[in-house]
Amino acid sequence: MTAQEFMDREARYGAHNYHPLPVVLQRGEGIYVWDTDGKRYFDFLSAYSAVNQGHCHPKIVKAMTDQAQKLALTSRAFYNDVLGEWEEFVTRYFGYDKVLPMNTGAEADETALKLCRKWAYMRKGVADGKAKIIVCDGNFHGRTITIVSLSNDPESYGGYGPFTPGFIRIPYNDIPALEKALEDPEVAGFLLEPIQGEAGVFVPDEGYLKKAYDLCKAKNVLFIADEVQTGIARTGKLLACDHEGVRPDILVLGKAMSGGMMPVSCVLADDEIMLCIKPGEHGSTYGGNPIAAKVSIAALEVVRDEKLAENAEKLGQVFRERICNIHSDRIELVRGKGLLNAVVIKPKNGKTAWDVCLKLRDKGLLAKPTHQHIIRFAPPLVINEMELLEAIDIIENTIAEFD
Ligand code: PLP
Repeated sequence: MTAQEFMDREARYGAHNYHPLPVVLQRGEGIYVWDTDGKRYFDFLSAYSAVNQGHCHPKIVKAMTDQAQKLALTSRAFYNDVLGEWEEFVTRYFGYDKVLPMNTGAEADETALKLCRKWAYMRKGVADGKAKIIVCDGNFHGRTITIVSLSNDPESYGGYGPFTPGFIRIPYNDIPALEKALEDPEVAGFLLEPIQGEAGVFVPDEGYLKKAYDLCKAKNVLFIADEVQTGIARTGKLLACDHEGVRPDILVLGKAMSGGMMPVSCVLADDEIMLCIKPGEHGSTYGGNPIAAKVSIAALEVVRDEKLAENAEKLGQVFRERICNIHSDRIELVRGKGLLNAVVIKPKNGKTAWDVCLKLRDKGLLAKPTHQHIIRFAPPLVINEMELLEAIDIIENTIAEFD
């Protein structure tokens, strides 16, 4: 089949809820993917930071295939001999009393919201059904009805009402707005992304996370960090909150928890919070299944053993420095942390970030616009400096063609 035939088949039989860049991938290894014609590309999206460990990392593949041949799924109706191993590993790795496994990022965010509400009624003393959770403009936490109820992006929420009540939305990176919202005694939690990924890699002012955390503490409000995209070494630390020494009350993780092998997400919290949910009150058939558990342990070991956070920190600086030095009036702005970066493109002659991404593809590098004019660059964290410089040359040459 030709690439066009693959794409046509998806269009014919699949729902039209995505607009992929026209390239049909067949194989991946490390920082590279290959299309159906055998052409190789740098992957500078990393499946939205799920593939931080690189495509088909041999250690993670082995963990998956070994466990798949033994026991794949028990549901949580019974114990198995792997889940506890993962729970112990993950709680020690991130430093929390307890972990609750789910599958997708959206499910983990839903779990965090439910947990926060339960805590508000059982511990904080908010009257039943009255708990409120503060969220931010520009947020992206997933696609469920409740989560799009938090969104101010019409593409996310439009046509999906009625929406879930109980949320207060404030501007991101705005401490006075948070202070004001926290005056409401029914507020139970503040949910935020430490860097807003989907919104276009918005990095808040230095000190914002710490100040926000301290304000929440002063009002007995849970600080809930959605690190589904920023977590697990992407921004140059294990967690983006680590940059400011903030330990969230509820930590939400997904994506790179499995190194891209399968959906693995989770919520971490201490006993006082996590034990508010009792048996039968929440769950998921696949959440914490034996394959997920083994894959996730291997994925997190790779992050630690291969020092991916340190690599992201070092190479992120190289990336921003080099891109900032490109003399082009196509580039409006470069921002990011670690290897989560975005370039804001100035449209000219009707050419947008999408056209730049098409040209990058032609030159052997895959990236995807977020919104009209922003391109996110997030390679697998196993990339080395030479490879990064080669990729930056491609970006530089491509942008030069649009000048
Ligand atoms: N939270 C954040 C910060 C995300 O970036 C995403 C996905 O991009 C999600 C949640 C949703 O994750 P999933 O697509 O696995 O539901």
